[in-house]
Amino acid sequence: MRTCAESYLFYPQAPRPATRPIARPAARWRLRLAGPRLSGDMDAALRPALTVKLAEPRGFCAGVDRAIQIVERAIERYGAPVYVRHEIVHNVHVVEHLRRLGAVFVEEIDDCPPDRPVVFSAHGVPRAVTAEAEARRMFFLDATCPLVSKVHLDAERHHAAGRDIVLIGHAGHPEVVGTLGQLPPGAITLIETAEDVAALRPQDPDNLAFVTQTTLSLDDTAEVVAALKARFPGIKGPHGRDICYATTNRQEAVKAIAENCDLVLVVGSQTSSNSLRLVEVARRSGARDARLIDDARDIDPAWFDQVRCLGLTAGASAPEVLVEGVLDWLRARFEVQIAETATARETVTFKLPRAVA
Ligand code: SF4
Repeated sequence: MRTCAESYLFYPQAPRPATRPIARPAARWRLRLAGPRLSGDMDAALRPALTVKLAEPRGFCAGVDRAIQIVERAIERYGAPVYVRHEIVHNVHVVEHLRRLGAVFVEEIDDCPPDRPVVFSAHGVPRAVTAEAEARRMFFLDATCPLVSKVHLDAERHHAAGRDIVLIGHAGHPEVVGTLGQLPPGAITLIETAEDVAALRPQDPDNLAFVTQTTLSLDDTAEVVAALKARFPGIKGPHGRDICYATTNRQEAVKAIAENCDLVLVVGSQTSSNSLRLVEVARRSGARDARLIDDARDIDPAWFDQVRCLGLTAGASAPEVLVEGVLDWLRARFEVQIAETATARETVTFKLPRAVA
């Protein structure tokens, strides 16, 4: 069996590198996303005051940054098209940017020709997908976040120790599909809520373990874990927690700013689990309202009746340039005072696979 590090790369038919240099993708990325429309600019003297509480950390995490770089570098090195199984990360702007560079997004590897590179998304894939790519002798790059791979390894370890495994996560989310697909059918039981714990019927209640999706709500998951431990006191779990550092830090940061906010805007896409959780956390932590927006163009001026204090953050797959676009939108209409609240400093980086390093 290949090691985790080796599984980033399976390389029987690597396409020849592109001979023609192409423009650095990062530069093009910035240019394309900069500058949402600023229609509605208001005379400075008429602008009402608005305090903007900016959450820090926000936006891109190390896993998302790595996954995007893998696709960009694969296109740069091997030429377009490069196929990507599922949205590389859940953000419409990132996907559109990569599509323009030459990525083709598909849901199954059956839809990829065998002679082009294919990248697996940051959410991870079931083993059957990797096996199929190997059987077709495809050149693939695995952009699964190393923190998702760690959950896969934990599940394998528990399975090897003969434990029944409970996965806490959202049914149908690609990360959950990938984790369930690491082991034979039936080895992992998926639950979503504390209420689901009562319905569990494990074969051996004294030999159980749990793992979780990496992008869940900290508070909701703590409730589910408490219910599991109450019913199965010997259940084994991760040493810390599976919810990743980026999800944890962004939720803690939004908690720190939400109180007294009339509105919190979370920049992120509807498909992004960690962005959706930020909206929920903001509401629960005292914000009068919280909304998810893909970019400044989604903002409805009507939301700003009675808003004097606004919170602003971004999910782990949302680029900072979109936050800047929201700030530009606000500055065109309000006398903005920014108060940044930093609750953690992030220094995490992940290595790229050798084929694109
Ligand atoms: S949100 Fe967490 S698990 Fe997902 S890519 Fe980012 S660091 Fe990895």
